[in-house]
Amino acid sequence: MENCIFCKIIRGEIPSPRLYEDGDMIIIRDIEPKAKLHYLCIPKTHFALLSEMDGEKAEILKRCFAKIPTLEKELGLEKGYRVIINQGEDGGQAVHHLHIHLLGGEKLKDF
Ligand code: 5GP
Ligand code: ZN
Repeated sequence: MENCIFCKIIRGEIPSPRLYEDGDMIIIRDIEPKAKLHYLCIPKTHFALLSEMDGEKAEILKRCFAKIPTLEKELGLEKGYRVIINQGEDGGQAVHHLHIHLLGGEKLKDF
C-alpha cells in the first residue's frame, strides 16, 4: 500500500531497525513505547483487520504467533508479556496495517 506507514517501513523507505525479519514479518520497536519494552510484529502482507483474513493471511499470522515465543529471550520478554492487536476505531487502531503489539520488560498494570 502506497501510503501505509508500516508498508513504508517494510520497503525500507522509513528507516527502522529490525530486531527480527523473515519472509513473513518484521519485528521493530514501537516509536512511542507504552511499556519498558514495546515491540511491533508486523506481517509483510498489508491488511488492516482480522475480519479481512483469508486462508493465506491466517497462515501468515500463524507463523507470526509461532515465531514470537521463540524470540522471547532475545527480546527480553522471558518473564512474560502482553500481546495486543488493536482493531478499528473503538479498538484504538491508529495504523491500518494489522500488527501485533508485544509489551513487557516490567510488571504490567491490570486492564
Ligand atoms: P495501533 O494504535 O494502530 O495499534 O498502533 C500503532 C503503533 O505504531 C503505535 O503504538 C505507534 O506508536 C506505532 N508507530 C506509529 N508510527 C511508527 C513509526 O514510524 N515507527 C515505529 N517504530 N512505530 C510507529
Ligand atoms: Zn501496510
